[in-house]
Amino acid sequence: MDAALKSLSYGASRPVPEAEPSLSVMRNDNDRVVASLAERRAETAALEVAEDATKDIARKPASATRVPEGIALARPSREEAEAAVRTLLRWAGDDPNREGLLDTPARVVKAYGQLFGGYDVDADALLERVFEEVEGYSDIVLVRDIPFYSHCEHHMVPFMGLAHIAYYPTKGVVGLSKLARVVDTFARRLQTQETMTAQIADVIESILKPRGVAVLVEAEHLCMAMRGVQKAGVSTITTQFRGAFREDASEQVRFLTLVRGGKA
Ligand SMILES: [Zn+2]
Repeated sequence: MDAALKSLSYGASRPVPEAEPSLSVMRNDNDRVVASLAERRAETAALEVAEDATKDIARKPASATRVPEGIALARPSREEAEAAVRTLLRWAGDDPNREGLLDTPARVVKAYGQLFGGYDVDADALLERVFEEVEGYSDIVLVRDIPFYSHCEHHMVPFMGLAHIAYYPTKGVVGLSKLARVVDTFARRLQTQETMTAQIADVIESILKPRGVAVLVEAEHLCMAMRGVQKAGVSTITTQFRGAFREDASEQVRFLTLVRGGKA
């Protein structure tokens, strides 16, 4: 298992030259994190407003291709979902009728609305607004250290980490928080890290039509730390390189240098 993970990770085996000082690196600074947290709170509030789960049924996000139509059209009612949580509580060996658990099914179902809210977001639409005023800028745009929380599709246990995204714009750049929202959108679905990495690259490639896209995701999987092999602190790295980043190995080196730059 460790050997397999090591083969996925960069660092030791890959020589990384000094970063060129002329590069424009857009760091995910504190202001931006604060801004994106505020945005997330707004999104969360919006989700809470959508109390009637049946309202969500009609929305079919363009990039939610992994949600089978039959599922999207026949979501269970809130009551059915809460009953399912009570079943799982009994399966775990507890009593859903004891005081501490009485409101748990309702809370879990509400939390699912947030944790899996990505099914109802159209990731394509997030990228459709391009900032005109930076048209003409064609060098690399890199947003790194985008935090995310997701759930593995095998155990429905969290995995979390950081996503780093770079692209070479051809028709302008998008707001940096939009890339963070793209990450959130795919993270808030049941995922594998590999699929999520590819989906992020796919949507940027298809909407922004950049000269190249690079995505690196590093994550810790709690299903590995809490169950099974029980290895904590192991991180898995996945990458997707498209266009210039796929064709030119030196572009990959540049990307990895920028991602690692400024870190101890
Ligand atoms: Zn898992």
